Amino acid sequence: MTIQAFRVLLLTEKEQNYRLISHLLSQIESTRFELVWEKMHLDRLKKIPLKEDVYLLDERVVGMDNQAENSLEEKLSHLITSVSPAPVIVLTESPQTGISALQVGAADYLEKSQLSQLNLPLSVSLLERSLRLALAHTQVQDYSALTTDISDRAQAEEQLRYRLVLETAIALVSRELASHDSADINRVLQLIGVAVNASRAYLVRFRDRGTLASMTYEWCDSYTQANLRNFQNVSISAFPWWMNHLRKNQTILIQNLEELPEAAQTEKTFLQSLQVNSLLAIPIYNSLGQLWGNIGFDTCGRNYKQWLDEDIQLLQVVGSLIHIHDERIQAKQELQASEALYAGIFNHSADAIFLVNVLPRGQFIYETINPAYEEVSGIAVEDFVGKTPTEIFPPEMAAQVEEYYRECVTIKTTLYYEESLDLPMGRRIWRTSLVPIANAQGTIVKLQGSSRDITEEQKALEEQFRYTRHQRLLASLTLKIRQSWKIEEILQTAVTEIQKTLRAERVLFYQLYLDGTGKVVNEEVVHGFPVMLDEEILDQCCLAQCRGKYREDYMQVCPDVALASYHPCYRDLLESYQIRANLVLPILMTTVDTEIDSPPTLSTPRTPPTPSVWGLLCVQQCSQARQWTNDEIDLLRQLADQLSIAISQAELRAKESAQSQDMARSNEELEQFAYIASHDLRQPLQIIAGYAQLLQRLYSHQVDEQANKYIHYMVTEAQRMEQQIQDLFEYSRLGKRSKPLELIDCDEVVQQAIAKLQLEIHQTKAIVTIKDSLPTLMADDSQLIHLFQNLISNAIKYRGAEPPVIQIRSQFQEEGWLLAVEDNGIGIDPKHSDRIFKIFQRLHTQEEYPGSGIGLAICERIAKRHGGHIWVNSQLGQGSTFYVLLPS
Ligand code: ADP
Repeated sequence: MTIQAFRVLLLTEKEQNYRLISHLLSQIESTRFELVWEKMHLDRLKKIPLKEDVYLLDERVVGMDNQAENSLEEKLSHLITSVSPAPVIVLTESPQTGISALQVGAADYLEKSQLSQLNLPLSVSLLERSLRLALAHTQVQDYSALTTDISDRAQAEEQLRYRLVLETAIALVSRELASHDSADINRVLQLIGVAVNASRAYLVRFRDRGTLASMTYEWCDSYTQANLRNFQNVSISAFPWWMNHLRKNQTILIQNLEELPEAAQTEKTFLQSLQVNSLLAIPIYNSLGQLWGNIGFDTCGRNYKQWLDEDIQLLQVVGSLIHIHDERIQAKQELQASEALYAGIFNHSADAIFLVNVLPRGQFIYETINPAYEEVSGIAVEDFVGKTPTEIFPPEMAAQVEEYYRECVTIKTTLYYEESLDLPMGRRIWRTSLVPIANAQGTIVKLQGSSRDITEEQKALEEQFRYTRHQRLLASLTLKIRQSWKIEEILQTAVTEIQKTLRAERVLFYQLYLDGTGKVVNEEVVHGFPVMLDEEILDQCCLAQCRGKYREDYMQVCPDVALASYHPCYRDLLESYQIRANLVLPILMTTVDTEIDSPPTLSTPRTPPTPSVWGLLCVQQCSQARQWTNDEIDLLRQLADQLSIAISQAELRAKESAQSQDMARSNEELEQFAYIASHDLRQPLQIIAGYAQLLQRLYSHQVDEQANKYIHYMVTEAQRMEQQIQDLFEYSRLGKRSKPLELIDCDEVVQQAIAKLQLEIHQTKAIVTIKDSLPTLMADDSQLIHLFQNLISNAIKYRGAEPPVIQIRSQFQEEGWLLAVEDNGIGIDPKHSDRIFKIFQRLHTQEEYPGSGIGLAICERIAKRHGGHIWVNSQLGQGSTFYVLLPS
């Protein structure tokens, strides 16, 4: 048996320490350690060649070097790197220093108080264990040799030692897995594989909901072939027996492949192909109780190892350590990913993001703000970090901000609010959401806020809101004003509505007269203030100057009469009515003259009509000054426009109705005149005609031919005139008296008309037919007889070469009954179709066709009186059809 000797260098000032360590080392039986004692300082140590296997370093030596400004950890770290790869065990006075030493790379530490002559076995065992650990830290192979070298020891002693080896391995594995972000799992497998003398140590992970298995890490000794590459994405259904054990969370322990049951045939073949003799595998479950993977040891080739309980325990511990490590790494990666995401959002978000620390005394300190916050606030991040709102913002704003922060801390839930802040770049409105962040105890320790600058959005909204409100108001006021045609009413409605809408204390309308005087014609005033209604105010000082300006739509806006630079007499006038704030708008009127004296020519174009100031709309405040908003001014301007439209329309309408009244009156007078004239003229005319006839009858033989001719003219013209006067009398009588309408049978009416024309029909051999039967309708029968008589007689009178053929027919239409009188006479040129219905309008001379030119005018009057109308459809030489449409 060969026992290896290891060189140990003890670095301590105290000889006492050297003696103790030397004694303890001599008690270690399995291994020989040669101890060297050095008292020198670290600086010197660095200068000598390093050949020791282990360094035992007294903490005090480290503390006494000349780099006093460095911390103990820094000094240790410095030392460890300078003696690396030899392991360092630090002799400490406290476990805290020991842990620090481990953190900076020491292989182990020993508390000096635990090493003493008094408790020799424990001290020896502690030292031996520490040395083994240190040696294993760097020289695993030698360390394994160390374990085999003692195979001939007594059984119990060996078991003890084996346990020590395993414990050491676990300690190393734990350190490996705990101290690194991403530990070397292959090295972990190597550590435990060597410790248990396995040929292979491996880790298998299950993926795709446990359907596929892949070997993720493997360590093999130099005699064993690696399996990692072949064992990737293997379907686990190929190993049912194996998986069955793992799913039941059972350890798989095979000391000899031959012992495998029938059910494990595939597993057996697979293991044989890998030359596996024995194996140990255990499942690893995650925190959700899902099968995560399995870890295992194989012995292969000439390695026949009997697996012990200690091996199973080791595997379980290492399996769960690896799993914990994996979860930690994953959590860390996720954290890193979310941190990266957050950083991305933080740095590139258009929203202003800030983080505030909530101090226990209720103070708020800014931890950070993002670039967007810097931009919108115009304050640099350096001026924010570590400061309270009071140190950054003006007092009022800081108080407002802190109020929100406090509320969020109190309610412990996200707080949304809008705030308006005065920032270096101007007043801005921000919409903020504030999220409280609590610690494990539920105390709010931070506030995370994100703010969006909604100044423009808000402006647009307000604008929109104002515009809509404005339009609604205007529409409703306009509607009320326009509901009346009476100027008086319009003005009263306007002052009442404006007073209500603007909550003004007095609204009045001051009408201006052409002579320069004026009068308050409408007023709405709050009770208690002077009444101005009916006052004929003679404003000598302002109105005269303002009149011209008002004509150009000038508006007088005075928020405070006391501050205005008015002429004293005007101020006195305003104050006498207690007017403190005043707003005066002209109501302009453009009079469009419809009567044009002379049409415009190129050289004298018509000048556009100039508006005149019709009156003034005054909105006043009497109790105090008042700042009129732009909206109010706009509204009043538009209202003033609407008022002038309403007034001019009312004026126009009044004018129209006066005109139509005049017209009706003059028509009536005319008819009256025609009636009286035709009635009164008939008698003298008849006398003239009678004497003319007498002259003709009694004296025709006494006068010469010329005189007879004159007498003849006198007689015929007197007769014609009589006819005309008769017709005119008829015509004017139609407008004067009329019977109420009654149900009339048109057949009967036409028959009576025909009967009255019997002589002419006979003389001209006219054929008058009625097609089918004519309707019965509401009419004045005598007027209707007159109408048909006129139409049929015209059809006979204006006949052509052929005897007249006249047809009377009717047709029902949507608008009423259409009655037609059709003839085969001379016809009418269509260009005269309207003219012939006018009174005294004729198309022929008396010689051609005698007549008065009133017949069709009478027909039209009758048709209109019945609510219908009359027209003709004709062509010259092709007969005529007169149509009369009467309501049914
Ligand atoms: P008059 O007394 O001249 O007949 P009316 O008012 O009855 O007066 O007719 C006006 C004119 O319309 C007539 O002078 C004639 O030229 C024309 N007219 C009326 N009825 C007919 C008709 N059936 N055919 C042709 N022309 C007609």
